[in-house]
Order: sequence, then C-alpha cells, then structure tokens
Amino acid sequence: MAFELPKLPYAYDALEPHIDARTMEIHHTKHHNGYTTKLNGAIQGTDLEDQSIEEILSGLDMGNGAVRNNGGGYYNHCLFWEVMSPNGGGNPSGELGDAINDAFGSFEDFKDKFSAAAGSRFGSGWAWLCVHKGGKLEICSTPNQDNPLMPGIGCEGYPILGLDVWEHAYYLNYQNRRPDYVAAFFSVINWDKVAEGYASNK
Ligand code: MN
Repeated sequence: MAFELPKLPYAYDALEPHIDARTMEIHHTKHHNGYTTKLNGAIQGTDLEDQSIEEILSGLDMGNGAVRNNGGGYYNHCLFWEVMSPNGGGNPSGELGDAINDAFGSFEDFKDKFSAAAGSRFGSGWAWLCVHKGGKLEICSTPNQDNPLMPGIGCEGYPILGLDVWEHAYYLNYQNRRPDYVAAFFSVINWDKVAEGYASNK
C-alpha cells in the first residue's frame, strides 16, 4: 500500500497572515510530497508495505534512516496540516482545556512551555503536545523528522499537536524570527482537532 499526499483541509492562503500562501504551497507540494514519495520508495518490497504509518513508526528500526526520516516526515506533516485552521486560535475548552490546566497550571503557562520547546530546538525539528494513556499531557521536542511514536525517542505518549520548526516552515515570511512564527501558530491552532486527538488517545 503506497502512502498518498493528503489534500490540505483549507486553501494555501487560508492561514494568512499568520502563515503565507507561498510557504504553505511549497511546504505541501515540495517538502511533504518529497517525504511521501521517498517513504514509498523506502518501504517498497519490504514487510513495512502492509503496515499503517503508526505501526511503521512505533516499530521502527531507528537505524533505518530512509524510513525514519521520510516516514516521520510523512506522518508529522499529516498531523501538522490537520491541527491548523483558518478558524483556529483561542483557548481549548472542555476536557482538553481541563487537562492543560492540570498539567501546566494554566493555558498561558502551557503556551510559554510549548513556545520554549519550539524555540529552543536547535536546528530542525518539532515541538509536540502528547497525551499518555490515562489522559496526562506532556510537552516535548524532537530533532529532524523524529516523532514521539518512535521507540526510545525520549518523548512519550501519543502526539496530538505538532509544530514544525524547520526553517522551510517559516523562512520566506519570518526569516530568522522563529519566535514570531511560533507566536503566530497559536492564532491558527485547530483546538477542536487537538481535542479529538486527546479524546481518542487518552
Ligand atoms: Mn516541514
């Protein structure tokens, strides 16, 4: 089974002014498409061909660089597009809002801690909000296209929110100002989608 590049759930310009259309288009049609194509090439003719992407990542041989980088890149971007929306932003409510307050003290404290994880990732990588079985939340960060589902990554739980901090995600509009991009991300977070991920994986 070959993986397919998913369609975005909104237009390339839908997240402006927070994330510009040109960045979104290149990110989706070049970067995400590249990971998808290379993942398919890396698993072709192997046992991995019949597995879901979650199975591939959670059972990954971390020495398999092609699957680690491209499988992570495929999965991470699929989540990234889904957790953003032109109608996003604001604060999470309901059980996710309660879980954020329990884990981090307040939404503002969560925002500070998540932004710090995104800002302090040296070079390329991701910041994550993950849920553990039982509902506890954790913030972490991974390098490159690594993902919390991968074994021994030091980031436990199931990822329900991911922020791409590779320069390709923001450089055209924000140049080296990663903190401005991270702040803008909070204006487009689709909390309904994150809450769905929380409910399904707690
Ligand atoms: Mn990316």
